[in-house]
Amino acid sequence: MSEVKMEDIVSLAKRRGFVYQGSEIYGGLSGTWDYGPLGVSLKRNIMNLWWDMFVDSRDDMYGVDAAILMNQKVWQASGHVDTFTDPLVECGECKSRFREDQIDTSKCLNCGKEGSFSEARQFNMMFKTNVGPVDDESSVSYLRPETAQGIFTNYRNIVDSFYPDLPFGVGQVGKAFRNEISPRDFVFRSREFEQMEIEYFVHPGNWEESFEHWRQQVWEWLKALGLPEDKVHELEVPEEDRAHYSKRTIDFEFDYPIGRKELLGLAYRTDFDLMNIQNSAGKSMEYTIKGTNEKFVPHVIEPSFGVERALMAVLVSSYREDEQNGEKRVFLALPHHLAPVKYCVSPLLKNKPELVEKAREVYQALKKKHGNVMWDDNGNIGKRYRRQDEIGTPYCVVIDFDSLEDNTVTIRDRDTTEQKRVTISEITE
Ligand code: ATP
Repeated sequence: MSEVKMEDIVSLAKRRGFVYQGSEIYGGLSGTWDYGPLGVSLKRNIMNLWWDMFVDSRDDMYGVDAAILMNQKVWQASGHVDTFTDPLVECGECKSRFREDQIDTSKCLNCGKEGSFSEARQFNMMFKTNVGPVDDESSVSYLRPETAQGIFTNYRNIVDSFYPDLPFGVGQVGKAFRNEISPRDFVFRSREFEQMEIEYFVHPGNWEESFEHWRQQVWEWLKALGLPEDKVHELEVPEEDRAHYSKRTIDFEFDYPIGRKELLGLAYRTDFDLMNIQNSAGKSMEYTIKGTNEKFVPHVIEPSFGVERALMAVLVSSYREDEQNGEKRVFLALPHHLAPVKYCVSPLLKNKPELVEKAREVYQALKKKHGNVMWDDNGNIGKRYRRQDEIGTPYCVVIDFDSLEDNTVTIRDRDTTEQKRVTISEITE
């Protein structure tokens, strides 16, 4: 089919209850998004898949869930207070503000005035707040702009509680906040978003091996999301474009409808963060190899995944249009393990109590087995199928009069639209 358009994704997401504009009822709040019932389910499926792959199923990984508000010293030591900035320019004519590196600065995008932009100034992207009732410098804190620091600040605790062998990693999933100058492109660049990050602690001499390991793991992740391999591209980030802490970075970019853009990053952060903590907190971050006297501050490989950008890539790559019986059909060919609803169950007719009763039995049994199963008895069967296709439900099950006689049902496949007759026990046991 032809290329997917961004407006198709945004409109389906809103119409079917995946993603709504944040605070929409009051005219919105730029850069914020609310997840509806299907969006939250898809998002959780992505986050749970990640946790399962990278934390629960590995012997060398630990999970944490650190506080979003942290002592301001964290952000001073990490360099975020001084350097977590983007270059901001302002139009002298209409006062619109833009991120300099994202626009052509010869002409204002808003009012069209030529040569109206100011010199760029560095704008810090952290949201500042005060903790407690006193509003002074000592109470300043920030909403975390990355989850990583919540891992680094707990590194010592985890080493002391679990005595892990090196290499080992710590994973965290949670909200991050950045006061982006120009939030845009649906959830791609939000001011409040969700990250899934791993800090993998290694012997300094072995960083390349671990970097390669995580590069492969990233590809496994992309496969598990069902993204087409030819839409993902590795970009070796040149030194001048790398974050202040990184000695090597690969951006994994995805061909979104808005262009080829960063989906996730893999960085070698050296011992930058642990050394900063050691120096500023005055506590040793050294690791001692068991049974030896060899001591050093571990180096770090960081795969950093964004939930929203993954969700957007999943929606884009599963969006399909085809024709069924002369009518256009839209469907989401979501991988089954990510689909928000696994089965939809309907009685053929909703005014026949015996059909409804039997359908309820099947519904309960499927719900017990698969969790997220939907009941739909609105409109005719064709309309029900269209609705389920649009939200990516892999199977629709219909209970009819034959079901009462022989315990079989019709099951329809989302992708092929083929219908088969199966026994109830085949799908519920
Ligand atoms: P960009 O260059 O696009 O601003 P970045 O390089 O600053 O992104 P990182 O600091 O490497 O991003 O953050 C790690 C991951 O967090 C990104 O790969 C992305 O998936 C996600 N992420 C970062 N900023 C945002 C945002 N504003 N909205 C949604 N996701 C984001």
